[in-house]
Amino acid sequence: MPFIYRNLTLLPEESEDSLRTLAATELGLPPQALRDLRILRKGVDARRKGRVKLVYTVAFSVADEAALRRQTAGNPSLEWQPEQPAPRFIPIRSRQQIVIAGSGPAGLFTALRLAEYGLTATLIERGQPVEQRALDVQQFWRNGQLNPESNVQFGEGGAGTFSDGKLTSRSKDPLVPWVLEQLAAFGAPPEVRYLAKPHIGTDRLRRVVIAIREHLLAKGFQIRFASRLTDIIAREGRLVAVTVNDSQELPCDLLILATGHSARDTYELMERRGVALERKAFAMGLRVEHPQELIDRIQYGGARHPNLPAADYAVAWNNSATGRSAYSFCMCPGGVVIAGASEAGGVVTNGMSGQKRNSPFANSALVVNVGVDDFGGNGPLAGVHFQRRWERQAFQQGGGGYRAPAQNLLAFLKLPGKGGASTTYRPGVVESELDGVLPAYIITTLREGIADFGRRLRGFVTAEATLIGIESRTSAPVRILRNGHFESPSLAGLYPAGEGAGYAGGIMSSAVDGVKIADSIAARLSHPA
Ligand SMILES: Cc1cc2nc3c(=O)[nH]c(=O)nc-3n(C[C@H](O)[C@H](O)[C@H](O)COP(=O)(O)OP(=O)(O)OC[C@H]3O[C@@H](n4cnc5c(N)ncnc54)[C@H](O)[C@@H]3O)c2cc1C
Repeated sequence: MPFIYRNLTLLPEESEDSLRTLAATELGLPPQALRDLRILRKGVDARRKGRVKLVYTVAFSVADEAALRRQTAGNPSLEWQPEQPAPRFIPIRSRQQIVIAGSGPAGLFTALRLAEYGLTATLIERGQPVEQRALDVQQFWRNGQLNPESNVQFGEGGAGTFSDGKLTSRSKDPLVPWVLEQLAAFGAPPEVRYLAKPHIGTDRLRRVVIAIREHLLAKGFQIRFASRLTDIIAREGRLVAVTVNDSQELPCDLLILATGHSARDTYELMERRGVALERKAFAMGLRVEHPQELIDRIQYGGARHPNLPAADYAVAWNNSATGRSAYSFCMCPGGVVIAGASEAGGVVTNGMSGQKRNSPFANSALVVNVGVDDFGGNGPLAGVHFQRRWERQAFQQGGGGYRAPAQNLLAFLKLPGKGGASTTYRPGVVESELDGVLPAYIITTLREGIADFGRRLRGFVTAEATLIGIESRTSAPVRILRNGHFESPSLAGLYPAGEGAGYAGGIMSSAVDGVKIADSIAARLSHPA
């Protein structure tokens, strides 16, 4: 597939079948001369409201490559790329006992990649398989009964299982296509391979997670649910075993610690055992919910054509005097606001969508950067204590039962106008002034930022919008240090992975991090020191 043609545009009402003719006409060739044409990338260009276009990159081959390269030399839209060889995995034999703690994207993708080398591992996951987990989460959302071991953060598939499943990644890492290819092979929509903003949706993601589990079992992996890593045992600075559920010891030479940003007890364990950790900046704020149809009108300049995706937005504003920024994060078009707590007595908001993104609402986190000096403590877990304090404050302000404090956007901005706090968040909200749910510098920066967003997205500041608090689990407040080989500098055999270790943020980067760790381990096992 050596030719790549960029910037082909179609109107939403035009069929993708016309891409072949369009590309061929631009190149002065008959349509049938373009062989094996496929879409490499598809995005939306909404810069001109009311005249939204779909923008494509396609790949194809031709019979006479040399002739086309000569004829089109200097054409900036056409690029010739030599065929990329598929990655080759040389099988590795090893007696090393590998344990992976956590079955989120980092843990699962470490496992999938190890399997490519013919290696196996024991995967321990504190939560339940995704089928049982979905029931536990529904129960929580219905009646506020939290299962601290099986919830939106904990269980098979990790934190993003009840999510929009956005697969966007700012990273240009060459491993991104491999991860997308695996997701598509395990049941994600095929277009995740080429959409500019791919997403899976929580409904489809759960099926993908089950397919990955079945694949790993078939490859000889052991998967243990309701199995929490509770201790690590080292001898002479090298890991030799792990303890599960405070009761069972598993021999372990290499531990991939992929336990996510909400495993506060696991951070405490690492601190107790002298693993090198440090505080890490993150962000906190509120979630905002609007009618989706309003966001479509703002972004597309009118009603959405059925061939256009539910519109999203990404906004950011910086106060240069204070150094604080307010920005949108984890936007869920056509989704719902969800309760994402994992610890008793704390309220945590987040967002989720199905694959079709067809809920009549759009939501997004609006957050402000929080630095390590804001935590009010010097220990490596000061950020965890800071998060917990504000989650508990939100719980109290919501009146208990995991109801969240919420306020109409106009009331929050102290603008005139009527409107209640209407939201999809379950188990429900309590209408409340939001000033006290977060530190004053976050509330002030959010007010300034939202006023700016309203100038750029006309209609964003409206009585139809509600703010719900609080959004506190945006990324890890701790970093578990590692060296250039992804290994802890303080404990040989420990590989901190993914978002919880502070080296990733989001599904894709966590998965890519897991793949890199597997590659590093494979290199080490094939060339033992
Ligand atoms: C509601 C929600 C929506 C999100 N939406 C998106 C999105 O659309 N796109 C996106 O890119 N990102 C999204 N994210 C973030 C994304 O889910 C995370 O960045 C990603 O899951 C991190 O992957 P991870 O594997 O590092 O950790 P996690 O996914 O957090 O996985 C950690 C796993 O470890 C397990 N575990 C914890 N402690 C232990 C222990 N001691 N022993 C054994 N197992 C343990 C947990 O149960 C969990 O399964 C969302 C997150 C949430 C909560």
